[in-house]
Amino acid sequence: MQSTSRNFKDNAHKALNDATLQRALLNVKSGFQENRARTVAGLPEFEQLRDAGRDIKNHVLANLDFYLERFEENVTANGGHVHWCRTPAEARETILEICKRREAKTVTKGKSMVAEEIGLNDYLEKNGVEPIETDLGEYIIQLRHEPPSHIIAPAIHVTREQIAEDFRREHKDLDPNRRLEIPQDFTDEARAKLRERYFAADVGITGANFLIAETGSTVIVTNEGNGDMTQLLGKAHVVIASLEKIVPTLEDASTILRLLARSATGQEMSVYTSFSTGPRRSEDMDGPEEFHVVLLDNGRSAMLGTEFQDMLRCIRCAACMNHCPVYAAVGGHAYGWVYPGPMGSVLTPSLIGVEEAGHLPNASTFCGRCESVCPMCIPLPKMMRHYRQREFEKGLSPQKARAGLSLWSYFATRPKLYRLATRLASGLLGKLGKVNGRFTSLPLAGGWTSVRDMPAPEGKTFHDLYRERQAKGGRA
Ligand code: SF4
Repeated sequence: MQSTSRNFKDNAHKALNDATLQRALLNVKSGFQENRARTVAGLPEFEQLRDAGRDIKNHVLANLDFYLERFEENVTANGGHVHWCRTPAEARETILEICKRREAKTVTKGKSMVAEEIGLNDYLEKNGVEPIETDLGEYIIQLRHEPPSHIIAPAIHVTREQIAEDFRREHKDLDPNRRLEIPQDFTDEARAKLRERYFAADVGITGANFLIAETGSTVIVTNEGNGDMTQLLGKAHVVIASLEKIVPTLEDASTILRLLARSATGQEMSVYTSFSTGPRRSEDMDGPEEFHVVLLDNGRSAMLGTEFQDMLRCIRCAACMNHCPVYAAVGGHAYGWVYPGPMGSVLTPSLIGVEEAGHLPNASTFCGRCESVCPMCIPLPKMMRHYRQREFEKGLSPQKARAGLSLWSYFATRPKLYRLATRLASGLLGKLGKVNGRFTSLPLAGGWTSVRDMPAPEGKTFHDLYRERQAKGGRA
């Protein structure tokens, strides 16, 4: 997928002025946050499970080569194939080669962010294979020719009225009197269209929430059952997954599954949790003739042993973006690549470079909610700070910001001078702003005052107030 992360500021500006998008984004707050809070409150051992999930993933990352090889051995023993792909191009070519060998004209697809990462749909289309998205959200954005804006609710930026309009435009035989108002209407209409496509598809492509080393199984969780149809009805089932999805055992997968749905949608479990272990056996009633796992690295192995390794614990639950005030204000498209929100602000620069995505770690208020809700205890704010530092060290941050920081650090490393300068500045600003109690414009602070007023200081610095209160014996 082509990145526009460099344009984050412009993208965000557009998003803030898009009234329809702003209306659609209200769903993030009203749905996900409340549902998560309710289900988490109903599970007293949730914090212990978080620790257990973190420890499982840390163990895997410390022994990644061992578990990946074990997974491959078991997939092969079950009659399947594992394809190791270092780059998106290798992954795309591998999947196309499987489609061509099966003479596939159409493929059905379950939701997969890794497929978005490698730009799979465009590539298949250019090479004469039609991809059909089967997840309702993905189906909607495919009709609209848009990328997803959220990792578990790809069409969250679209209102119901817009979806109804899209269906009426694209489904040529749709009865004009048919009701298209509530989610069930859209699901029924999409299901009717998709059913015939499942049977016509030669290959089914899904992502994976987990890869299980001890059995060679892949696991997907869905709420619509589309993943099961996709992986069972094609002649070949292709799973595309990034290598950090591996867990050692079924028991480990079940521990993390208890965290996943609660953190994602606020359900205790997703409606379907489906395991695939190799192709159809002679005694099976149905299933694919071929089973392939395309394992993508795309820069992840380079994160091992760095300050960004913890990011590889991510289970793509989206809790961080559902609780992020910046995501709630600008939505997912503003981030300009596959992964939005706080997890995207760390993963995107890790995968496509800080030169391309350096704005994203700055798109944070550092309120810390992302880390507090992350089921894998990933220290997202800390990693964003590391990227800010890298951006600064590489000279990528704006000249004004660099000059301001250099000036501040000059004073901050000289405490007496710092106290004197802040006292003078605070006193002067306090006098100048006395009449209105605020500034509507200030030189060097235009970025702030162009969108909000700046309160005038009350004439004393924090240090002065602290000292005064201590001298009075009060709390500092
Ligand atoms: S960083 Fe944490 S909260 Fe965000 S998607 Fe990943 S696991 Fe979920």
